[in-house]
Amino acid sequence: MKGKVYLVGAGPGDPELLTLKAARLLASADAVLYDDLVPSEILRMISPAAIVTHVGKRCGRLSIRQEEINGLMITLASKNLQVVRLKGGDPLIFGRGGEEIAALRAAHIAYEIVPGITSALGAAASAEIPLTDRRASSSVVFLSAHLAGHKDEADWSLLARSGATLVLYMPGSDFSPISRRLAFAGLSPDTPCAIVSRATTAREQIQRTTIQELAGTPSLPAPSLLIVGQVVRLGAASEEILGSAWERMFDRIPEGTAEATVAP
Ligand code: SAH
Repeated sequence: MKGKVYLVGAGPGDPELLTLKAARLLASADAVLYDDLVPSEILRMISPAAIVTHVGKRCGRLSIRQEEINGLMITLASKNLQVVRLKGGDPLIFGRGGEEIAALRAAHIAYEIVPGITSALGAAASAEIPLTDRRASSSVVFLSAHLAGHKDEADWSLLARSGATLVLYMPGSDFSPISRRLAFAGLSPDTPCAIVSRATTAREQIQRTTIQELAGTPSLPAPSLLIVGQVVRLGAASEEILGSAWERMFDRIPEGTAEATVAP
């Protein structure tokens, strides 16, 4: 049998959100290389005979470099092993999946990508926030807050003008810079947002606020992400939390427009 690498998404946390294909591959893999965000319930699905290696980061310290992970995948597959490279969420969303594919291609190793539910979708489902909704937003953008630098400042204002729902991965523990950047980009200070921590797990927490209040909002345990946009007020319990401000925002939305977006 020839060696092959499967880049597999483990989903956002709840083991039941793993695909059947991922479960089958974990049960039959010869080797598994997994990241930090993969829950232990999913690791227990790995074949007891498999070589299992943790290749994630711990406490912000890079325990293993990307080149080493690429090298490990290639070495194992060259020994004719079936290798699962298991990543949190979806392997092609903020997961260096592209770099791993490039390394496998260059080494002429067979590979296959098995998608997973990305955490934005898990978080939206938990908070009951429709990421698009014809009353509020017709597009959604996944952004990395961590990588955001000054050079893409213009892009943030373009996004703000587009009215797209924004999902910010890796928001960090201090929300003040994000709050400032969103406001600077042109979003109204009362734009609702939700922080979703440990989405789809038993320890999930959801905090709803506005861009203005975000700066003073204490961070929730990692991993967490931030959903920003008018759709947030359509989520569970938003009415109670945002109260009459919520009602006012609702009044401003043009009704009956399929493509309606709310200008900041
Ligand atoms: N490939 C992953 C993302 C990896 S980047 C995916 O598709 O989801 C890591 C970031 O993902 C974290 O900093 C956090 O912003 C987000 N994340 C991952 N799991 C999460 C969860 N259960 N709840 C909230 N955010 C999560």
